[in-house]
Amino acid sequence: MERTLLIIKPDAVKASRSGEILKMVVDAGFEVIAMRMTLLTREQAAKFYAIHEGKPFFNPLLDYMTSGKVIPVALERENAVTKLREVLGATDPAKAAPGTIRALFGTNIEHNAGHGSDSVENGRIETAFFFGEMEF
Ligand code: UDP
Ligand code: MG
Repeated sequence: MERTLLIIKPDAVKASRSGEILKMVVDAGFEVIAMRMTLLTREQAAKFYAIHEGKPFFNPLLDYMTSGKVIPVALERENAVTKLREVLGATDPAKAAPGTIRALFGTNIEHNAGHGSDSVENGRIETAFFFGEMEF
């Protein structure tokens, strides 16, 4: 079964949207296989988003991702990576399809409520970043 990582980002956690977001992914056919709430260190956030190092939004992204608690959620479903990105909507909430998580709960391209892995390989890597194999 394909695995992907959802992160409910600090803006959505603070706005008490976590329950609604989890309901949306479960209703979309995902199984939650591991979940926790945590406050990322700057080092952890930098490692997680290492692919974006050097981009103009990198430091603001680290500020944002460490600004409050996040909820990493490991999910399984057929075609999980593509399907989660559909449920999340486009990176920029203004361009996200109506009814998607980012359209409903995101504020702008930076503060966009949720993360979803972008490939099957990264789904494995990113779920393993937060959870040990024994937790699945
Ligand atoms: N981001 C940003 N400005 C941009 C692009 C991205 O602040 O111009 C932030 C946003 O929070 C996004 C994250 O950096 O979710 C990672 O960017 P990516 O391009 O990987 O988008 P995603 O895969 O999250 O849709
Ligand atoms: Mg990405």
